[in-house]
Amino acid sequence: MASAVKTDRHMMSGIGMTSARTRERLVQRLEQNGISNPIILDRIRSVPRHLFVDEALESRAYEDNALPIGQGQTISQPYIVALMTQALLQENGDLRVPKKVLEIGTGSGYQTAILAPLVGQIFSLERVGPLLEVARRRLALLEVTTVRFRHDDGHRGWPGQAPFDGIIVSAAPEGVPEVLLEQLAPGGRLVIPVGSSGFQNLIRVTKTPSGFEQEDLCRVSFVPMLRDKQ
Ligand code: SAH
Repeated sequence: MASAVKTDRHMMSGIGMTSARTRERLVQRLEQNGISNPIILDRIRSVPRHLFVDEALESRAYEDNALPIGQGQTISQPYIVALMTQALLQENGDLRVPKKVLEIGTGSGYQTAILAPLVGQIFSLERVGPLLEVARRRLALLEVTTVRFRHDDGHRGWPGQAPFDGIIVSAAPEGVPEVLLEQLAPGGRLVIPVGSSGFQNLIRVTKTPSGFEQEDLCRVSFVPMLRDKQ
């Protein structure tokens, strides 16, 4: 069973371990590791990551690690969330504001919450129903209202809403799904981990007037992008 959404009372508790100092240490670590955009660092500072994990793991929420969220899945490492956000949005040191972003692999909803105020609208797909329901309720409690969720396999994308100015994927397929390239708007960017377990690369694909341009960002370790709903 996925973690229950926390009550208001629970949201107010644990102030000690989620202190401003603990969060600041995480922000400093990301900065040292090359996350330079102050707006993205500020999102990491202000989104309460402890509300996206089980109570038993709360004390570890501001460490720079992935953590289990049930159903064999994980909340992404803060550094990777920040790096992917920067790869999706940063342009010559500033942030561009894509109107429509497709997210594949809602998971806990943490990446969704980081991204939401920085983009127009997010369309978020998750193949595991119980995870999606928890994330949906959690983001409603946090008053994140610019997200539409759908329980589906991300290999299909979201044809009814395409094209997207950005697509961000947090589960790794073996290769870039053709459908996602087809659903990119001109100038749009796809940030996605690709490869098999232990051999994944985070890449960025940009749709240019003459085709697609691909950049390798770094080696990563994501859960696999699986087929069909669960
Ligand atoms: N950004 C999320 C990461 C969750 S882990 C967070 O920080 O919480 C990746 C998620 O991708 C998992 O929840 C997994 O169920 C989901 N996933 C895997 N394959 C998928 C697919 N084909 N379509 C949609 N979601 C998928």
